[in-house]
Amino acid sequence: MTNKIEADTGALAIEGVSRELARHRAASISDLRYRLSFELSPGADRVKGREEIRLKLNNATDPVILDFRDLDPQGRVIEGAVSNVTVNNAAVNDLRQTGGHIVLPARHFKSGENTITMDFETGVAAANRPIIRYQDRDDGSEYIHTLFVPMDASLAFPCFDQPDLKARFTLTAAAPHEWTVVTNTRDQTITRNGKISAWIFQETPPISTYLFAFAAGPFEQIAGDGGSVSLRVFVRRSKLQRAKEEWPEVERLTRQGVERMIKFFDQPFPFTKYDQVLIPGFAYGGMEHAGATFLREDSILFRTVPTKNDRLNRASLVLHELAHQWFGDLVTMRWFDDLWLKEGFANFMASHAMAAIYDPNEIWKRFYQTHKPLAYGIDSTKGTTPIYQEVRNLKDAKSAYGAIVYQKAPSLLRALTFVIGEENFRDGVRLFLKERAYANAEWSDLIGAFERVSKQKLQTWADTWVKRRGMPQIDVEWKCDARGLIDRFEIRQRDALDEGGIWPVKTRLLLAYDGAEALRITAQLDGKQTTISEAVGKKCPAYVFANDGDFGYGRFMLDAGSRHAVISRIGGISDPFLRAMLWGALWDAVREVEMNPRDYIEMALKTLPKEADPELTQSLLDRVTRAFERYLSKSEQTAIAPQIESVCLDRMMKADAVDLRITHFRAFRSVATTAEARERLKDLLSGKLAAPGVEIKPLDRWRIITALLARQDTEAGSLLDAERKRDTSDDGRKQAYVAEVARADTATKQRYFNDYLNNRSVPEDWVEGSLTAFNSSNQSSLTLPYLKLALEALPQVKRERKIFFTLAWLNAFIGGQQSQQALDQVREFLRTSRIDRDLELKVLEVMDELERTVRIRAKFGL
Ligand SMILES: [Zn+2]
Repeated sequence: MTNKIEADTGALAIEGVSRELARHRAASISDLRYRLSFELSPGADRVKGREEIRLKLNNATDPVILDFRDLDPQGRVIEGAVSNVTVNNAAVNDLRQTGGHIVLPARHFKSGENTITMDFETGVAAANRPIIRYQDRDDGSEYIHTLFVPMDASLAFPCFDQPDLKARFTLTAAAPHEWTVVTNTRDQTITRNGKISAWIFQETPPISTYLFAFAAGPFEQIAGDGGSVSLRVFVRRSKLQRAKEEWPEVERLTRQGVERMIKFFDQPFPFTKYDQVLIPGFAYGGMEHAGATFLREDSILFRTVPTKNDRLNRASLVLHELAHQWFGDLVTMRWFDDLWLKEGFANFMASHAMAAIYDPNEIWKRFYQTHKPLAYGIDSTKGTTPIYQEVRNLKDAKSAYGAIVYQKAPSLLRALTFVIGEENFRDGVRLFLKERAYANAEWSDLIGAFERVSKQKLQTWADTWVKRRGMPQIDVEWKCDARGLIDRFEIRQRDALDEGGIWPVKTRLLLAYDGAEALRITAQLDGKQTTISEAVGKKCPAYVFANDGDFGYGRFMLDAGSRHAVISRIGGISDPFLRAMLWGALWDAVREVEMNPRDYIEMALKTLPKEADPELTQSLLDRVTRAFERYLSKSEQTAIAPQIESVCLDRMMKADAVDLRITHFRAFRSVATTAEARERLKDLLSGKLAAPGVEIKPLDRWRIITALLARQDTEAGSLLDAERKRDTSDDGRKQAYVAEVARADTATKQRYFNDYLNNRSVPEDWVEGSLTAFNSSNQSSLTLPYLKLALEALPQVKRERKIFFTLAWLNAFIGGQQSQQALDQVREFLRTSRIDRDLELKVLEVMDELERTVRIRAKFGL
């Protein structure tokens, strides 16, 4: 017999954390505290823990549902192991475990304060577990770290795993003597007992479960110098020396960021200290745990000679995670549908802070280059989503991460500053943080704050940009009369996806003249089209660009006349920011099948020897590589390869700035296909050839070997063997794994594919690092049979892997293909399989590039 509450509980206790369960719990639970203790020992594949949960209940009529699950060897969800469960000091023998939840009957609880205690166990592994082990072969030491976002805290310990049940955490950890344990707060006491130390940490302020974390191992620490926040960096023992070299710059930047953000947010630093923990093989760039950001070690300790670009990327990462301490950690989104609130903000604030620290024009140019092409690239596909993404169950929340959240959302925040002004923007953010500190918020709260300070109505603007998917394409139409004056000037928009959307667009138009100052006009477009009367009667321009300064969001196309004018002038346009955007508009013309990719490559090759901006050089070389690999036929490739190679080689040796030489060296490695160019790569390996200031580091050597293997160079196999003997370091093992997959033979591909799906001893960053080389673009017929298998594995990949993995997986397997046949297979998969909607959208998103490739090749006969 089932009573009503039991039936309801069944519906709530489905796999994952449903929105209904989250709402139900948020309405009844408050004043939450977790006291957690873990026994950490080297080599163990299980960790034992004990916890005490204190919570206040509004009433005691419903069962209490905790989240706790485990994974079987195939990665399927099973019930987590718990024992000795008590509620309010009485043993509980009638709990139920279902769908990865622990259901504790209502009769054990009272309204008001309650205490639950239990013992539990969780898994540790190199990959696919909530506690991840790293084995440092250089000195035989072991490190472990947690990574819970978005809902893997409940894979590690029983909890209410939703962002709006913030709790105070007290961690106790038993670990070997020589280990250091780092978590969200400072240690309170460390007691030693034989070979074991017990670490007891201070209680945290209220934080969400996904922001709780710890790392342990024989870490070394370097402390920062005083100031208003205590700074420390933790690094594994074998990298201490490298960290000492890099830390001063990172420390200075962190310090500048902290001071700037305290001032801008008008809020003190929200936690008692700020640690940055460098984790080898961390699943992504960084994770903003409250008071203890975990960073991928490689992102901080460069493995190749860094360019200024690399340094700016690192600065951006450091400041992004720092901004999260306020935006995300102090004020947290209520639910993951507002994920962009924290991610969009952190990216925008990173650039905002950098604009104050470095040259602002350069930073906003960089913002354009690192945000817009990626955002537009996705927003014009059928797999795109609104910025606000409905998440019905947290088990689907990983799919919400991507360019819409990281690139489009910050672009919109920049657009918003243009709409309401910098000061209103700052004041709105201050108000929002003040009212929501240590609590949760939704998008409407932030918009409400902006409306209050700016006294402008923003709801329609916000709803259109945040809740509607896609973007406008903005076209300009203008005509001059016989006297050389503009007699008509219109801008119009159309929905890039043809779904009928109209967006409010505020932008700045640029009317460019040869040998005279450009004219800039601010324009507002609320409907399908508008006439710009301010332009009428002005002198006829050489060309027009509709997004000067990059305040607008959309595909800003050049009209035919302007495109023609830009093509002949682009090398001479002195403002690098404008030049970068115009190159972007021309690239849009390639992707919209209006411009032949071969023409783009040829234009770029002509300009590159004169281009002085390293970031623009980088993006031009990326596009040349992409157009070469994807859009050109074999015979076109053969025809143009020597030209591309010779420009790269020449610049690598002779460019004035070392950054340009490094950038061309990296590009040369990617595009060297002819026998002659491959010989030059081998000369770089042997030392016979050296570019001034371009030191070839071990990682560079491995990448050269990977490229030679992918291109089936006859000496590549023996070079790989030799490199294995030469570089026996910890990282060398990983790079050898990544390189080997590039071999163009079926047995290798089969072995790696089997690893990807069945071998949990291979660290996730090894797998992720090898996906692109597996799918080397010149091996598409060899890898085509894996396309279907990779698509069919999507549900498993989504369940087991960390946040960005699914997208990397799809980008590699679909991105490695260029043919109609491959496209047909992806379409057939979408037609016949029953995958989750979020996965279907990801496939549609990635498939778009394959569709374009097929269209571009057909149109231009490539
Ligand atoms: Zn982030």
